[in-house]
Amino acid sequence: MCGIVGYVGKKEATPLLLSALKRLEYRGYDSCGVGVISLKDGRIAVQKTPGKIQNLVDLLKTKDLPLSHVGISHTRWATHGKPTRSNAHPHADTSGKILIVHNGIIENYQELKAELQSKGYRFTSETDSEVIAHLIASFGRDDLFKAVQKTLKKLVGSFALGIISSDFPDRLIAARLGSPLIIGVGKDENFIASDVSAILEHTRKIIYLKDGEIADIRSDEVCVYDLSGRKVPAKIQTVSFKLDAVQKEGFPHFMLKEIHEQPEVLSAMLSLRLKKGMVVLEGIGLSDTALVQCRNIMIVACGTAYHAGLVGKYIIEQLACVPVAVDVSSEFRYRSPIIDKNTLVIAVSQSGETADTLAAVREAKARGAKVVSICNVVGSSLTRESDGVLYTHAGPEIGVASTKAYTAQLGMMYLLALKFAVIHKKLSGFRVQSLVKGLKEIPATLKKILKDKARIAKIARANAHFGSFLFLGRNVNFPSALEGALKLKEISYIPAEGYAAGEMKHGPIALIDEYRAVVCITPESDTYEKMISNMQEIRARKGKIIAIATDGDTGIRQHASNIIYVPKVDRLLTPLVTVLPLQLIAYYIAVARGNDVDQPRNLAKSVTVE
Ligand code: GLU
Repeated sequence: MCGIVGYVGKKEATPLLLSALKRLEYRGYDSCGVGVISLKDGRIAVQKTPGKIQNLVDLLKTKDLPLSHVGISHTRWATHGKPTRSNAHPHADTSGKILIVHNGIIENYQELKAELQSKGYRFTSETDSEVIAHLIASFGRDDLFKAVQKTLKKLVGSFALGIISSDFPDRLIAARLGSPLIIGVGKDENFIASDVSAILEHTRKIIYLKDGEIADIRSDEVCVYDLSGRKVPAKIQTVSFKLDAVQKEGFPHFMLKEIHEQPEVLSAMLSLRLKKGMVVLEGIGLSDTALVQCRNIMIVACGTAYHAGLVGKYIIEQLACVPVAVDVSSEFRYRSPIIDKNTLVIAVSQSGETADTLAAVREAKARGAKVVSICNVVGSSLTRESDGVLYTHAGPEIGVASTKAYTAQLGMMYLLALKFAVIHKKLSGFRVQSLVKGLKEIPATLKKILKDKARIAKIARANAHFGSFLFLGRNVNFPSALEGALKLKEISYIPAEGYAAGEMKHGPIALIDEYRAVVCITPESDTYEKMISNMQEIRARKGKIIAIATDGDTGIRQHASNIIYVPKVDRLLTPLVTVLPLQLIAYYIAVARGNDVDQPRNLAKSVTVE
């Protein structure tokens, strides 16, 4: 994970690097650092600190860096070694002339480290990354580019790298394999960054570096090479998204802002994808005939996206009668999945950089499957490796706990389910139109729920003291229960479990007592009565129930202590609606507990390590 920014140009590097790095803080925030080449004496200077970028800004007030036009910076999400000053990046070689920042994991670092130590190289950190600086140094100081090239050939694992050297004070070297890195092309200045948002205020001209590519960057020139040193054409693309999309706009947290954006995100998606009552999935990359030939579907994803995939299974199977399996990506790739050319793999990832999902996609492709991805970040690695891409266009999601990206993934699952139902001729025109109409009404429904958020906040605060939570749902709302529990865990740090309500008696009921809060997702459904029985079982054991129910359901009052009502929608569409109170419950409980909602401990937004 982690964020990288590098600069070579004519402006003062340090302030520029810090403000760009701040935009990447969502990617990792346990420690950070910046390193530059001094204009005055050509030497490397570095400052690093544990904690967030504000700590670095404060540190630089007393220990400032020399004026410079070239530098690299890093905000870390530790994989190897604690988040201490010495483990923070950048890392230098023993001479202090070469400086690197690294995102990813060097899997063979122990062997490399032992070899380098035996040759006299002194290590000052516990990280895997430091070997890179010493390896480059070990290949001599005459040709930095060649030394980097030789180094990369020795590395096993994943990396995005920024490298500077005081021997070559006008150059910035960048390389990637498995971790994201882009180059921003400016006038008399160039940048590298882990994602576009970091440098948008400086340039919109972007080169997406591909795996196995190395770039030699000066203020007026960018040359890209492959690992063997052959020059490759670097395609410059102009990105169009707006910078204000990455600002809080008056909300106390990005997460709350992003929760409020959900109606808009869905409505934009539906107006783009529903034309004259027909689903238009531009970008899917496969003809209807090719889609019909797919006899089964496998959805691969991690975390929240996995829950979107589970909803996808329920609705695709119910509407289109196509068998769907859903796998956590990290399990999929190691379990020898049975797939062939008639399997359609749908990979879901907000960032498109999720390492496990990328690996799962490669595995699926190697076995001949067709791959369509559902992704939010244009040009990300996943989108480049898939046969087709369905962009969710939810805009940048900064809050580490996913909200609008999830709803957008859900929205796409419904569109896909409808598409499959139509091409497999499994639904009457009447049912298709009623679902399309229902979908179009969801954004307004979400707005109504948001109007009631003060009441939801009150309920959340009243329950913020509970030491653990259970979330129960059935059928299409079983994944909602998993997602509700995950959201709460992520930002409130309260142990929470999501369960299919029918499974309660097979174990979790042992947990129920007056100290346990149970969130029951109970909208009108075919399993409503069963949910009510489960609620009675909980009450009989003194569990405290918060119910999410359909407007007008007065009967539920006798079973629950708190009720959050949501407007009535088609039963199949309820996950699009019930998720909103679940997100708000998690949000308000985390705020009540004084937690850092946008940057919860130990997490990072885009999980680019396995
Ligand atoms: N593996 C490196 C470390 O632990 C880089 C982690 C990251 O990507 O932030 O320092």
